[in-house]
Amino acid sequence: MTKRRDFLKTVPAVAGAALLANGSFISSAEAKTKVVNAQGEYVLPPLPYAYNALEPFIDEQTMRLHHDKHHAGYVRGLNATLAKLKKARDAGDYSQVQILSDKVAFNGSGHFLHSIFWQNMSPKGGGEPGGKLAKAINMNFGSFAKFKAQFIAATSKVEGSGWGILACEPDAKKLFVLQAEKHQNLTVWGVTPLLVVDVWEHAYYLKYQNRRGDYVKAFFNVVNWDDVAQRLKMAMK
Ligand code: MN
Repeated sequence: MTKRRDFLKTVPAVAGAALLANGSFISSAEAKTKVVNAQGEYVLPPLPYAYNALEPFIDEQTMRLHHDKHHAGYVRGLNATLAKLKKARDAGDYSQVQILSDKVAFNGSGHFLHSIFWQNMSPKGGGEPGGKLAKAINMNFGSFAKFKAQFIAATSKVEGSGWGILACEPDAKKLFVLQAEKHQNLTVWGVTPLLVVDVWEHAYYLKYQNRRGDYVKAFFNVVNWDDVAQRLKMAMK
């Protein structure tokens, strides 16, 4: 199986050593690949091959538009939204937090997924994997052929816009084929959760009824920060 940090190597949140002023972590190796600039803003990673390198399977014009326009737009949008969130924090004004959170999810997922997508392809690609990845696929799906059939079927049936994703669940180290409908559905694919709070009604309704905010405030009285710190350490190793 591919090591987790290899799978997510273009995602700055999961690997690194230094804390930047804007709160993101970055290692010196990643600084060289310019995941972020000196101000801590995300930058558009260059394609790891020529625009026409994936011909005839993926055409040059599509690659130019996709990388230079679409992916660049996500990077711009993510930086702009993070700047707006900083202003909101400084002003203590969270009136726009819902739309800004949605924009972080939309642009962040767009940026991180495309960053993985470009690296997932190569003019020397194709064929079948070997080694630990092949073993993991066989264990989880029965065979490479069965994995491929499921991946193609699931991805072809994503409703509307979205992605097909092969993902690793790191606790049991199981692989999943997932559909990401509209990747911005309030998550940022490619990050590692550190602290989560369940706000389904079953988690608080008996005691807090409709006062979800009170429940979330109360939650902070029981947060295990040692656990959160341990998760951060694991994500960054
Ligand atoms: Mn795209």
